Amino acid sequence: MLLSFDTKLLRYAELAVKIGVNIQKNQYLYVSCSTDNLKLAEIITKIAYENGAKQVFVDLSDDRLVRTRYEKAPKDSFDFYPPWKIQEREWLAEQGAAFLSIVSQNPDLLKDIDHEKIMTFQKASGQALANYYTMMRADKFSWTVIAAPSKQWAAKVFPHLPEEQQVEALWEAIFAATRTDQDEPVNAWKTHDEQLHNKADYLNKKQFKFLRYQAPGTDLTIELPKKHIWTGGSSVNIYGNTFMANMPTEEVFTAPLKTGVNGFVSSTKPLSYSGNIIDQFTLTFKDGRIIDIQAQQGQDILASLVATDEGAQYLGEIALVPHQSPISQSGLLFYNTLFDENASNHLAIGNAYSFCIEGGKEMSSKELLSHGLNQSLTHVDFMIGSANMDIDGIAADGQIEPIFRNGNWAF
Ligand code: ZN
Ligand code: ZN
Repeated sequence: MLLSFDTKLLRYAELAVKIGVNIQKNQYLYVSCSTDNLKLAEIITKIAYENGAKQVFVDLSDDRLVRTRYEKAPKDSFDFYPPWKIQEREWLAEQGAAFLSIVSQNPDLLKDIDHEKIMTFQKASGQALANYYTMMRADKFSWTVIAAPSKQWAAKVFPHLPEEQQVEALWEAIFAATRTDQDEPVNAWKTHDEQLHNKADYLNKKQFKFLRYQAPGTDLTIELPKKHIWTGGSSVNIYGNTFMANMPTEEVFTAPLKTGVNGFVSSTKPLSYSGNIIDQFTLTFKDGRIIDIQAQQGQDILASLVATDEGAQYLGEIALVPHQSPISQSGLLFYNTLFDENASNHLAIGNAYSFCIEGGKEMSSKELLSHGLNQSLTHVDFMIGSANMDIDGIAADGQIEPIFRNGNWAF
């Protein structure tokens, strides 16, 4: 069955509202969206009201205005984050509102901007929203990140296509990656979610002590914390409602032991970070800490990311994604973490999610740290998977079991 674009857009919005944030009766919905995607925001708003939302707040941003600020605003203004924006999010989070972000940023938006300005603002917003992110990581509210094309993003993904076809091509790629183009997308998501939970359940039962990664440019051993929890697919918030934090999502992930990472690892895809590309880099670890960085592109920005705070020198997430995932098979490079991280095994620099350890949601930052979970203002995923990657699980008694072979699940 060939579906029209409008039908697919409607289905996509439905997935975001029903499977993504899973809107509840009388719930507030906060939508962050850029001016490139007002039509999608309008459809989402309509569906949210039809499914019981009390009020929908749309927070608009605009790539051009963001760029203008970085070009023209005084340098000493970048450590400021509007307090009313903090209050808005925290207030809504306390009320159990749902948060839906539609990302569409041009991967090169902040190219050639002084990276000190970028890092200063990244740090300021990380600090300003620390409380909000803590609530997020403890599942105190439902949230979802989806994507929609902007012209500039589409041009980056499809540079060989005529300009008038680029946005449509990116839409089609997003519809495919999010199963929107399948016969019954809501059911397709339920089946997919079950499969992710099955993989996580198996790994949770196993409680491996180490994972060992081997691939060209990579030989890395990661120790896992005691009572670690692998998670995949949907989450459940403190009110007992399920939600899908990322659409697409293909990953099963947990947190490493902060001081238990040794060896070296090479990136296999470019990383789009705060409007800049970091590419072809190798990180070397000793007892968890990054002791060497080599990047072909974006060395400065990667070095300043790692210098954000003490925790930015350590890892906070390890995620398993089969090389045969639909996004990976599309062969596309999206220059957007939401997609590229779901095409590949990845790691994250920075903060660990508190739910990655038993009882973690109730622990303070200090307690999490004492259980080996890294704490940082930042959390940035980078891709390391390929068809050449093997991963072994090593049990406490030394027994070895294959987890990944040639980039895909071995069990
Ligand atoms: Zn991840
Ligand atoms: Zn992550």
